[in-house]
Amino acid sequence: MEEKKELKVEDIKTAAEGKRCPVQKALYYISEFLSGPMCGKCFPCSMGSYEAKVRLQGIVDGEGTESDLRALRRIASEMAESSMCKKGKDSAKFIMEWMGTDVYREHLEGRCPDKECLALIEYRIITDACTMCGLCKDACKYGAILGEKPKPYLSGYMPYEVRQKRCVKCGECVKVCPEGAIIIVDAGLTEPVGVQ
Ligand code: SF4
Ligand code: SF4
Ligand code: SF4
Repeated sequence: MEEKKELKVEDIKTAAEGKRCPVQKALYYISEFLSGPMCGKCFPCSMGSYEAKVRLQGIVDGEGTESDLRALRRIASEMAESSMCKKGKDSAKFIMEWMGTDVYREHLEGRCPDKECLALIEYRIITDACTMCGLCKDACKYGAILGEKPKPYLSGYMPYEVRQKRCVKCGECVKVCPEGAIIIVDAGLTEPVGVQ
């Protein structure tokens, strides 16, 4: 059987850079670091990584608080100062990289500017741009799209819309819409969405 190759810190960083959202980058990084290169020999790195993961997960899940931000700063600074090897110190730097920007605070307020944190986004159909072709409804495996193609013998019609409670935010509907009529907005947005 082929032996599983352990990922190096640099490989994890490169993969994390593939995420758009800085909080997702940090969460991906620390999760992979914990399951691979983190050896557990020193406390600031082992406990710090674990606690950072819990706090970052809470933030991407839309449950982050000011106390999580303070804790992340403390954890990263302790890891940078007291980790026994470069791996722990480099991980602290990676976590800290975007903490000075507004992006973490925006998450605490319920917005992911990069529209990548699923708990903080919704898929919506722009009614004015929708030609009612039905392709999105056919593509959605979760029965999360309501709507009917117009019938010539009926005057009324049911516009296409996303049922938020059923939507798992897989993005398949966006891929098939020929009109670009499905967009991602902040979760809970109350204003109607229009053509952009
Ligand atoms: S800092 Fe280095 S030695 Fe300490 S737990 Fe992390 S990887 Fe292991
Ligand atoms: S994002 Fe996925 S689950 Fe949600 S409506 Fe589109 S296809 Fe369905
Ligand atoms: S695929 Fe696009 S244009 Fe067609 S029904 Fe869905 S939202 Fe409307």
